[in-house]
Amino acid sequence: MTPKVSSSKGKSGTQKSGQKYQNSFAFKPNKNNAAAVKIYNTPAKGICQRCLDIIDWRKRMNKYKPLTQPKTCLACHQKRVTDAYHVLCKGCAETRKVCAKCQEGTDIVQPEVKTPADLLKESQEQQRFLAAMTERQRRSYLRKMERGDEDGAKKIVVAAENNDDGGWSDFDDDEEDEEEEDEE
Ligand SMILES: [Zn+2]
Ligand SMILES: [Zn+2]
Repeated sequence: MTPKVSSSKGKSGTQKSGQKYQNSFAFKPNKNNAAAVKIYNTPAKGICQRCLDIIDWRKRMNKYKPLTQPKTCLACHQKRVTDAYHVLCKGCAETRKVCAKCQEGTDIVQPEVKTPADLLKESQEQQRFLAAMTERQRRSYLRKMERGDEDGAKKIVVAAENNDDGGWSDFDDDEEDEEEEDEE
């Protein structure tokens, strides 16, 4: 419970003052931002349902970072991975009939392209669940997103939607701060 003395980096935006702008809630692609919309609309390919959910989640939260150059495939060791968060190239994933991201899932999804109506519906849902969160939930949620802990983030959404304060200690902020110190 001792407050941590944080070093120079204040990357997660926990500082109250001196913040230039608040962009912590950049959830939906601005429809005037063609690049963001394109990312959002480009379906992930060759991955299982679980990984698809994770990637979609990232996209919705504007946490999706496309690759700037091809990555090395873990199987064929060629620079053929063109999709962010994938570890296998398309060919290797197809040959092995596994998910190109987790290499385990075999329920490969053929994702449908989202329509503008779908996008609108999703962004409305986001607004709704973020509005339902307490300030603390939101902070914890965003921190989990930063760390790529989508499962943890989803739990918070569920808790917020159910107004469930019961098991709330699961999301204790102090605990999170400690974990964060160890990050590379
Ligand atoms: Zn490969
Ligand atoms: Zn997967």
